Amino acid sequence: MQLATNPVYMTHQDQYESTAKVTDIQQIEFGGYNVYSIRVDETIFHPQGGGQRSDKGRINDIEVDFVQKEVLDPTNPNLIQINHILKEKPDFEIGSMVILRVDKEWRFQQMSLHSAGHILAALAEKIEPNLKAVQGHHFPGEAKVTFIGSPMDEDKLKLMLEERLDEVIRNSMPLKIVNEAGVRKLDVGGLTKEACGGTHLTNANQISSIRIRNIKSKKQKTQIGYEVVTTLNQKG
Ligand SMILES: [Zn+2]
Repeated sequence: MQLATNPVYMTHQDQYESTAKVTDIQQIEFGGYNVYSIRVDETIFHPQGGGQRSDKGRINDIEVDFVQKEVLDPTNPNLIQINHILKEKPDFEIGSMVILRVDKEWRFQQMSLHSAGHILAALAEKIEPNLKAVQGHHFPGEAKVTFIGSPMDEDKLKLMLEERLDEVIRNSMPLKIVNEAGVRKLDVGGLTKEACGGTHLTNANQISSIRIRNIKSKKQKTQIGYEVVTTLNQKG
């Protein structure tokens, strides 16, 4: 029987270093390269998914280029394997204890973009009740939330949204993980609860601001593009 990976990033999202036991090593072809796919008993690495980019980091001293999730049983989405993709040959074997290290700055950027998407969706739905968020894409430089419905006035929505975004950051809106009937949800400042398996900020005040890049509306479908300004970005 194939054992599942315990997704520690879901319960300990502030943990950036851990030890784990290697359960599988496979040589596979990935994106045109011959790589090594590593599985461990439990991982702090967030795999790509839910619109959020994969974590980066190291297993021992070997770089982890990509992390992907594999659902073992479609009827049980909690039964997952997480594959850590390494371009270099591992210096460990199945059964070895290894040190996992997640790149903290990279993770912070990804979870800021992801969290900002939740905040933006919740506020846009409040301002324009005819908008219903249906999808989020949180990659750096191309982050956007897609809604069903069209705003009354795009320019006015942009202004109101930026004003409300500044306000919730200034007022330290909390972002809390709650469990409702076994479903992991993000409580967005009491405005809404969204089922989500991603990593999140714990408070909107961890970022400096969220700016609207553009609002595109066509045939009852609206996309709101956005950028996140973090203190890390401001320094660098
Ligand atoms: Zn989320």
